[in-house]
Amino acid sequence: MVTEKKLRSAPLLLGVMGDPIAHSKSPVMHEAALRALSLQGSYVPLHVKRERLAQAVEGIRAMGFRGVNVTVPHKVEVMSLLDDIDDGARRIGAVNTIVNQDGHLTGYNTDGIGYVRSLKEEVVFDLKGKTVIVLGAGGAARGIIYALLQEAPGQIVIANRTADKAVNLAREWSGLGNLSGCAVADVRQAVSRADVLINTTSVGMHPDIHSTPLESSWIPEGIVVSDLIYNPLETVFLRQAKERGCQIHGGLGMFINQGAYAFEYWTGMSAPAEVMREAVLHSLQN
Ligand code: NAP
Repeated sequence: MVTEKKLRSAPLLLGVMGDPIAHSKSPVMHEAALRALSLQGSYVPLHVKRERLAQAVEGIRAMGFRGVNVTVPHKVEVMSLLDDIDDGARRIGAVNTIVNQDGHLTGYNTDGIGYVRSLKEEVVFDLKGKTVIVLGAGGAARGIIYALLQEAPGQIVIANRTADKAVNLAREWSGLGNLSGCAVADVRQAVSRADVLINTTSVGMHPDIHSTPLESSWIPEGIVVSDLIYNPLETVFLRQAKERGCQIHGGLGMFINQGAYAFEYWTGMSAPAEVMREAVLHSLQN
């Protein structure tokens, strides 16, 4: 833990490591948070190549960074370079947030919990007993499904282009809840019973904005439909769901909340989520 007095005694060094990194909206978001709370410091983009990752992680200690976010392609590889990994991040198999406590580095995964916080704040207040369909079985899906399982849903069905990945993930976490996996082509019947339908695939993301992950006629009327993508802010998949009377939820809230959790881990202070959202929206629109 860090006290507010210690936090304000020296500039706070924060950043995000990835390759590429220039497009990242994390610096804009966290800089806005630092300013809103009158904290001295900076959050910088760190362009780190795969072959330099170990040196970059050592640099966190050497330069006294309080924390960094980790993004593509380092979320898995970075784990072996840390002193401790939080339980959830270990099971998910990826770290997106590192906290430096006096040279001791601990890795967390805030993607899934950030997503669920956003989903609950914006559209489904209680996930208990709900039937949830997750399209995709990649890194983001793992974080989200793990976090969803903490909410005691009735059932989660994972559907992926590569069916084996969905089936294997369902098997791996079968002790944590009622999970099953299948191919996207075989999910129609399960979708017809869904309360919440979530796209975690990259289908529909810029620049491939006209593609959708599921036949639109399969989307039941009036359910909650969510998409992790936030560029564009409203995907064609969400637009089709809206036309079918569904309540929709885009990926911006997840991005803000994974950042908010990271900020809270680093500072011990409540993150100014609205200010962070405004900063990212402004940056996306310019
Ligand atoms: P990933 O590990 O590479 O997984 C990609 C997933 O998409 C896999 O399930 C893959 O299926 C599926 N997929 C890719 N292309 C496909 C296609 N043409 N047709 C059908 N399925 C396809 O990527 P990720 O890290 O999980 O990220 C997935 C998405 O989440 C991205 O759009 C990313 O931007 C978004 N995301 C958003 C946030 C946020 O803060 N809002 C955070 C993290 C990620 P296969 O297994 O068959 O290849």
